[in-house]
Amino acid sequence: LSCVGTVHLPVDDMKRLEKLVPDAHVAPKRSGHTGEMRGLWLVLVLVATAKAERVFTGDQVIRVNVQSEEDIQLLQALETQQAWELDFWLHPVSTELPVDIRVPSSSLSSVGEYLNAHGISFTVLIENLQEVLDEERAEMEQNQMKERSTRSFNFGAYHPLETIYGWMDTLVAQHPNLVTKQEIGRSYENRPMYVLKFSTGGHKRPAIWIDTGIHSREWVSQATGVWTANKIATDYGTDASLTSLLNSMDVYMLILANPDGYAYTHTNNRMWRKTRSKISGSRCRGVDPNRNWDAGFGGPGSSKNPCSDSYHGPSANSEIEVKNVVNLIRGHGNFKSFISVHSYSQLLMYPHGYSCRSVRDQPELDSVGRAAVQKLTSLYGTRYKVGSICKIIYQASGGSIDWTYDIGIKYSFAFELRDTGRYGFILPANQIIPTASETWLALKHLMEYVRDHPY
Ligand SMILES: [Zn+2]
Repeated sequence: LSCVGTVHLPVDDMKRLEKLVPDAHVAPKRSGHTGEMRGLWLVLVLVATAKAERVFTGDQVIRVNVQSEEDIQLLQALETQQAWELDFWLHPVSTELPVDIRVPSSSLSSVGEYLNAHGISFTVLIENLQEVLDEERAEMEQNQMKERSTRSFNFGAYHPLETIYGWMDTLVAQHPNLVTKQEIGRSYENRPMYVLKFSTGGHKRPAIWIDTGIHSREWVSQATGVWTANKIATDYGTDASLTSLLNSMDVYMLILANPDGYAYTHTNNRMWRKTRSKISGSRCRGVDPNRNWDAGFGGPGSSKNPCSDSYHGPSANSEIEVKNVVNLIRGHGNFKSFISVHSYSQLLMYPHGYSCRSVRDQPELDSVGRAAVQKLTSLYGTRYKVGSICKIIYQASGGSIDWTYDIGIKYSFAFELRDTGRYGFILPANQIIPTASETWLALKHLMEYVRDHPY
């Protein structure tokens, strides 16, 4: 940023600024260049503040070592209080699982005191979150410049929504006999929701669904979706098993299942998880779209507080993003498998989340899941756990795969991709391709199993 020349501010920014600081546009009278410089800096700083992308300077992500049921209860108490604005990346549910919390810099000492007072130890996973986010952003911008100059698309990088949507058109153009792009509806903020359909013909053939990014901040999920779609398109015709699969079944991929949230993670708040809908009577926005499905809606593991990150929403399917998928699945009527991809924790899960009682197909889902994970691990040794959502993580109501299972889609699964907390949601871009490659082995196993076990 230099101080030479004129800075043109958009009219809106100027108006907003004048409201904030009535004389901000007037250069200080004091003297010449330095004064003007200061005035300009003030204007620039205020504009930056008015446009405000949320910063996380000094925020830490800590991992709490849970030893007892009492520790869990103490952490749950911490989670329900709102004063410290804690962001639980992994919730306190059992002594088997770690608890990761993003602690705003302003709450670090309070949280430290609370944990120390109760004899609970913790380690720091991320020292200064903003530093990691700055690196991520710089790398992304560098990649964008490179992609523009080379007219290429780098599958090992994170991309904004527009770039992903543009890439979809390229994929369709490259594989016109296999891939189509279908708009299944619009988001709350009127963004199109695109499904990539892989089909070699037929009418409503048995189908497999894969969605990524329903929680917008889980970026490796959407990036894995992009890589996977490209993999399916390029391997068709060369990989015999995949080819036979696509000759009898269709695959649907919804890569940006929460487009408003995804756009928001790029422009305003990298840590945004929910939709962006307005909630009447609340200052907080957004619903957890994976607590909004009509399966145990409103039960344990979802929140009725609109400010919570797991807010279930005013009613089941209240979120248009969820409703659009529900309409497509119901209207189609021949989905045999529904797979939803999240991060992080390295888990492969099956229903239910709303109840810990085993589902009827538990033995089969468990053994298919274990076989799929074995394939995944075979590539780089990445270790996954397999189980029902309720037993393996926590009771969570209103989740997508519970709804799909309950309407008869037997092979309903959810992934939690890398990692196990070293970076959490800020997984470095150089892990995208390894993550997607290993996940593909599991996905392919699941898809082949579905093909070979018609019901
Ligand atoms: Zn998620």
